[in-house]
Amino acid sequence: MPELPEVETVRRTLEQLVAGKTIESVRVTLPRIIQRPDDIMVFCAMLEGRTIRSVERRGKFLRLLLDELVLVSHLRMEGRYGVYQAADPVEKHTHVVFVFTDRTELRYKDVRQFGTMHLFHPGEDLAMPPLSKLGLEPLADNFSYELLKDTIAGRPTKLKPLLLNQEYVAGLGNIYVDEALHKAGLHPERTAHSLTKRELAALHEAIVSTLKEAVEAGGSSIKSYVNGQGEMGMFQQQLAVYGRRGEACHRCSEPIVKTVLGGRGTHFCPKCQTIKKPRTRSES
Ligand SMILES: [Zn+2]
Repeated sequence: MPELPEVETVRRTLEQLVAGKTIESVRVTLPRIIQRPDDIMVFCAMLEGRTIRSVERRGKFLRLLLDELVLVSHLRMEGRYGVYQAADPVEKHTHVVFVFTDRTELRYKDVRQFGTMHLFHPGEDLAMPPLSKLGLEPLADNFSYELLKDTIAGRPTKLKPLLLNQEYVAGLGNIYVDEALHKAGLHPERTAHSLTKRELAALHEAIVSTLKEAVEAGGSSIKSYVNGQGEMGMFQQQLAVYGRRGEACHRCSEPIVKTVLGGRGTHFCPKCQTIKKPRTRSES
């Protein structure tokens, strides 16, 4: 599933491709992708004649800002956008087509069919589900150490499931949680309330720097992930633990271990990421 860096990469590409284009008509061939409004005919009619102004992102969701409307889109496992000429053959698994007045089309393809679209009036989208349920935005200017501390510090939850939970911090998934925890030197089974101030600060720093570096690299291409223009992200070459079971830790040479935690494959270095609380006296 694309995580924040991959969705951000799609956002940037998509904005270059569709900003300024006006929708002439919309075709939906898999109604369950459209979660709001209930009536697909209404969804299509509302979008007709609207111009896409910009593409933004909240967590792993794309927000297409149109005149007086916001289209919220989640790619889930395998959702893909592509811009085509109207005459181009429509590929298999294409479920939603936005036909533009310039004879090009934005097509949404989704083999697994888990993706969703919600249509809102401006202002509604951030105040209503699914976006209203999202926690802190880790690449926003206001994502401070203090905010992270207020959100997670007292919780008895293990770090891996806690950071995967979009209601605390939005945008992290299996890859970047493992990477951030390795960078911070924290075992995925440590609980949030066991963290010292220094460890919490290291976690905050690791989340931000890991995501920023991944965005800069265009995200990771694990399995079939390709961004909006068909380029491969390059961050998988920089991964420290994810997908590296048995390979040497870049920091200490210990083999990376893979376990299952909360039902998710979890990679870590047993030497750099200790489960024991540090021996320092009441640092927090
Ligand atoms: Zn190590």
